[in-house]
Amino acid sequence: MNITTLSDTFTLNNGVRIPAIGLGTWQSKDGREATSAVRAALEAGYRHIDTADAYENEESVGRAVREFGQRDDIFLTTKLWNEDHGYDATLKAFERSRKKLDTDYVDLYLMHWPCGFDFMDTWRAFEKLAGDGKVRALGVSNFLRPHMEKLLAEAEIKPVLDQVETHPWLTQPDLHAYLAAQDIKTESWSPLMQGKFSDISELKTLAEKYDKHPAQILVRWNLQHGYIVIPKSTDAAHIKTNAAVFDFELTDAEIATIDGLDKGERLGPDPAEFMKDKP
Ligand code: NDP
Repeated sequence: MNITTLSDTFTLNNGVRIPAIGLGTWQSKDGREATSAVRAALEAGYRHIDTADAYENEESVGRAVREFGQRDDIFLTTKLWNEDHGYDATLKAFERSRKKLDTDYVDLYLMHWPCGFDFMDTWRAFEKLAGDGKVRALGVSNFLRPHMEKLLAEAEIKPVLDQVETHPWLTQPDLHAYLAAQDIKTESWSPLMQGKFSDISELKTLAEKYDKHPAQILVRWNLQHGYIVIPKSTDAAHIKTNAAVFDFELTDAEIATIDGLDKGERLGPDPAEFMKDKP
């Protein structure tokens, strides 16, 4: 693995580089909580922040990024929410997000959920935003293979990544292998199992072996699989811990042990069932 520091990047299929570890911000409350989490991450050396219109914290994220400075060194992702699908609605929603983030451009714009298969007008608007230089890379989230097959058949610009739920209870090897074969990166959401890792004895054993925290074992498992990983925390100490993963390496057998914890269990909605009319 050639990711050896917090600022190291994966190169996406359009040549844009994305720092392998980013800060997740879902459920980071707008205002002081989100702003100080992002500030703590940037001060700790993170250069990648993941937010979304639906997280209702874009202004706070944007404020922390602006105050930190060095905008061009920071990789900022936001996402289009489900009620804004469609060509015109997408362009409008993007502009709203961009203003809240107080930035001239967004590094990565993601379609948050496919909401069925009627997403090509939305993607055309994404392509327009890329063509206008407002977004450096286009991607999707929660796309299963059938969604991706449709998109790849009809898109002019290929997505650079698919942000999907990925952790030891939901390893989705077939989906990840398919994405890799298409040169589309996996970006793991809920990589820390939303904090539900404490009782997993295999993770505890590995944490003891390496004198690490189970959260660090999870981040490392993602990186060694080649996935971009966006652990969320609002706690400055956790934020530091989650990125302190470059002084140990899991063996292939240990990776396989964690892979073996898979039980196909989702912590979030199933993209196959999550449609436009659902909240
Ligand atoms: P994570 O799996 O990252 O887990 C976050 C939880 O783990 C929080 O409760 C956090 O608490 C706790 N935690 C973090 N670090 C530590 C630590 N070192 N020790 C103990 N507890 C810790 O959850 P998310 O669901 O938030 O996923 C990560 C990100 O992925 C999101 O924030 C969001 O950006 C993205 N996401 C995208 C989705 C999509 O549909 N595209 C869906 C869901 C998430 P604390 O804050 O107190 O540290």
